[in-house]
Amino acid sequence: MAEYVPPLDDIRFTLEHVTDLAALAELPRFRHADPATVADLLDEAGRFFAEQFAPLNRLGDVQHSRRNPDGSVTTPEGFTKAYHRYVDAGWPAVPFPPEFGGGGFPWLVGVAMQEELTSANMGFSLCPLLTQGAIDMLLHNGSEAQREVYLPKMVTGEWSGTMNLTEPQAGSDVGALTTRAVPADDGTWRITGQKIFITYGEHDLTDNIVHLVLARVPDAPPGTRGISCFIVPKYLVNDDGTLGARNSLGCVSIEHKMGINASPTCVMAYDGAVGSLIGEPKQGMRYMFTMMNNARLSVGVEGLSIAERAYQQAVTYAHERRQGRAPGATADSAIVEHADVRRMLLTMKAHIEAIRGTAYLTAEAVDLARAHPDAVVRAAAHERAEILTPITKGWGTDLGVELTSIAVQVHGGMGYIEETGVAQHYRDARIAPIYEGTNGIQAMDLVGRKLGLRGGAAIRDFVDGIAATADEAAAAGGGLAALGTALGEGVAVLRRATAWLLAKTSTDPNNAFAAATPYLRLAGTVTGAWVLTRGAIAATGLRAGGGGGFPAAFLDQKLVTAHFFATQVLPQVHGLLPAVTAGPTDLFAATF
Ligand SMILES: Cc1cc2nc3c(=O)[nH]c(=O)nc-3n(C[C@H](O)[C@H](O)[C@H](O)COP(=O)(O)OP(=O)(O)OC[C@H]3O[C@@H](n4cnc5c(N)ncnc54)[C@H](O)[C@@H]3O)c2cc1C
Repeated sequence: MAEYVPPLDDIRFTLEHVTDLAALAELPRFRHADPATVADLLDEAGRFFAEQFAPLNRLGDVQHSRRNPDGSVTTPEGFTKAYHRYVDAGWPAVPFPPEFGGGGFPWLVGVAMQEELTSANMGFSLCPLLTQGAIDMLLHNGSEAQREVYLPKMVTGEWSGTMNLTEPQAGSDVGALTTRAVPADDGTWRITGQKIFITYGEHDLTDNIVHLVLARVPDAPPGTRGISCFIVPKYLVNDDGTLGARNSLGCVSIEHKMGINASPTCVMAYDGAVGSLIGEPKQGMRYMFTMMNNARLSVGVEGLSIAERAYQQAVTYAHERRQGRAPGATADSAIVEHADVRRMLLTMKAHIEAIRGTAYLTAEAVDLARAHPDAVVRAAAHERAEILTPITKGWGTDLGVELTSIAVQVHGGMGYIEETGVAQHYRDARIAPIYEGTNGIQAMDLVGRKLGLRGGAAIRDFVDGIAATADEAAAAGGGLAALGTALGEGVAVLRRATAWLLAKTSTDPNNAFAAATPYLRLAGTVTGAWVLTRGAIAATGLRAGGGGGFPAAFLDQKLVTAHFFATQVLPQVHGLLPAVTAGPTDLFAATF
């Protein structure tokens, strides 16, 4: 069996029936992204990633990227060749604007492609992911000249990008960073300082690496208000676009990590390196926020992708491994026949479909917020993206760890043995709740910033949307009625938790911060049930009307996963509510 088979039916179903790709393709900017074209594109991309990158996944884990004595970094065998094929085929450019050589496809399509690439090889996928973040930053905040110099090469993938925020004393608290930037006579800046944990800070995949570096200018106030953002390329770029002198920066070491070993995580030293300022001084954090939503969504997709890859492996193993006799069997059964193994597999399957829908809904909201001609629709979509982003990142990546752990469990003792390969997914998944804002920070963002949008009206509108789906399912009767009732109960719990937070946060911020993580889990679980109920409603309609190009068995499964989630996962929200409304007393009474 292939190491990774892109789940094309489910990706297409989610794009067309959980999100509304056809409606997005009506917008002037996305007319070429009709569902049939997108389905072909994702089919082709998935095949390419599965062939080129999936077979390198294990090798990357074993070989790691290595730093050489001269400071250069060698990626695992086969990575450069596969990367060049990826660039030659034009895949990196698909979701970026045509004026810089991109394919102009919606972010939603970019996210579906990203899902496929990350499932194929998470350690590799981080190079394009960081480049994508840097492109986003330059698109929104770079000057015309900066965009002209850097974007065409970054969009094609000829040059890669990095994000340099973290320093030893400045992790979650980015405002504590001390890297300095001083102005030079020629209008450029000189950057000095050390950054840690820089993903693909140095490597051999591209001719140039465009570092985006956060630093302080001489009169900067302390904290995040004093941060500026600079472009600091590995090689300076001449006026004619050719590469010039080597900049005074380099990778001084590579971290030894728990997972994603193919991805070089670099300590970077900047020693008077030449940089150019992005936008205005001291506005760096504001600019970072404009790209953070996309970066956080991308990391949320990592939770989905790695769980999907581990799920496929677990299903294969469950069919191959024979052990014990299932009730009624006369010979040893494949373990997939045992109820408890089926519970593990269905727990994975249902959550994966729920995270996929949640991530794609987030991407759709980002597209509508950017491209819809109606300002009212844009504003509503922006709010929805703001609310969904920490949910996708926090809930999606926590589950990435839990679901890959279940995949290990399905393998029994062999799951704990490295050569099976499933342990790698679990180790790889563990980083996603940590970087791009830890999940604790995501939860605080959800309760601290997002709940307060429009005085609480934005979250109420969001929950009303879920309630409307619950009503629709309940009114449909048949197998959908139970889903509607269960979702309605989930909505009631989410409303109570939200109302408590909106009322209590102002009296003591720790009311919100103590509740943040259980609230995010609660909101994610209800959102997941919403996604699956939408899918079940659509599948029922398609089944009645000829299938819409989906196999009948696939559509029937949509009701099974939705029913399992609604009746066996969603009720967990009742148990989370007391943790949301408990307040911080116990947490601060405890001694450690
Ligand atoms: C493999 C890897 C790749 C990375 N890639 C990059 C990269 O490319 N670029 C880059 O700039 N950085 C990168 N990072 C850094 C990453 O983003 C940080 O590790 C992350 O932001 C957390 O910061 P920290 O490690 O300092 O943890 P800390 O900030 O010290 O957090 C420790 C714990 O305390 C909690 N905590 C901290 N502050 C608060 C608070 N105010 N309230 C409640 N809880 C709090 C956190 O949630 C966490 O659980 C990478 C890290 C790793 C490990």
